[in-house]
Amino acid sequence: MSPSDNPFLELAAPGVRALQPYQPGKPVEELEREFGIRDAIKLASNENPFGPSPLAVAAANAVIPTMTRYPEGSGHRLVARLARRHGVAPECITLGNGSNDVLDLVARVFLTPAHEAVYSQHAFAVYPISVQATGARAQVAPAHDGSRGPAYGHNLEAMHDRVGPDTRVVFIANPNNPTGGWLTTDALENFIAALPAHVMVVVDEAYFEYVGEPAYPDTTQWLGRFPNLIVTRTFSKAYGLAGLRVGYALSHPDVAGLLNRVRQPFNVNLVAQAAALAALDDDAYLASSVSRNRAGLRQLLDGFSALDLTWIDSVGNFVAVDTGRTAAEVYAALLREGVIVRPVANYAMPNHLRITVGSNEENARCLVALGKVL
Ligand SMILES: *Cc1c(COP(=O)(O)O)cnc(C)c1O
Repeated sequence: MSPSDNPFLELAAPGVRALQPYQPGKPVEELEREFGIRDAIKLASNENPFGPSPLAVAAANAVIPTMTRYPEGSGHRLVARLARRHGVAPECITLGNGSNDVLDLVARVFLTPAHEAVYSQHAFAVYPISVQATGARAQVAPAHDGSRGPAYGHNLEAMHDRVGPDTRVVFIANPNNPTGGWLTTDALENFIAALPAHVMVVVDEAYFEYVGEPAYPDTTQWLGRFPNLIVTRTFSKAYGLAGLRVGYALSHPDVAGLLNRVRQPFNVNLVAQAAALAALDDDAYLASSVSRNRAGLRQLLDGFSALDLTWIDSVGNFVAVDTGRTAAEVYAALLREGVIVRPVANYAMPNHLRITVGSNEENARCLVALGKVL
């Protein structure tokens, strides 16, 4: 530490001191301010370009006048509705301020400086943050190199090899962000079944609603068999409620009981609870978002092909495209065209850009800009 550093920095917990802060996608307003441009588009945070269900917006508006009151601390109605939807007892559900909040609760409950967590190379960036903040050590398994599984994908064998006596949590994103790859029912089920009893496994299904592959598992159906399984879901992606911050975990009731001990009582706000509840009643809206996403993904891939670019196959609402050069430069050039995407060098993918599937017009604009800057 250099002498000019504030001495208070040394007081921070060691895990926190070593942390690299999460880098969010650049907001549209910030880009427009910096470059003095208008009509910028953001395809950088895997948000739903079609917005939330009108039912969710109406429900949110309806509760705004009551905001002087605390929300229901237990989130009773939303929890009951989610339990019914998943066919589990309400005691299995833990609400989060986004599913990132739930990931953090898992780390706080199960990890200490004496413990380890396992996740894959190129896995979602919140896992290292949640793990390191507890002082636990991270064991990062190398991803597939393309020879025995899809390149950049989780290598479950390598992950299994990283599990030791001090391991308490394994984090798996299915599909993963920023790669978009996914694990099959057979592969994931065998992996979980082979874990020792002292290891919790988190399956992060933030993009569950988008996936249409027949061999893609709904792991909420396995909760009865695996008491060490925690499944996380979110309203931020296909439901289009990222700005409200609401997600949840499904687990054995005893695990949910532990998570709820450290959960802040009002972690999901009044408006978010109301909007999420209403969003669950609009299956038609969800289905249309999903089918429009599929068409948009096709549109992007066709455009990449025309530009002779390759990509990592994705089942989510985003795709990592290989720019064939240092992607930071392409990212910067796209900003000047008013197009915000996501560089993923912090995921050890320096040549890729992660592009969120936007509306038809946004995808077209992104492709034109990409063609121009390349
Ligand atoms: C976006 C995302 C999340 C969730 O974000 P929240 O908004 O906190 O629910 C979780 N996991 C992955 C892999 C994601 O990409």
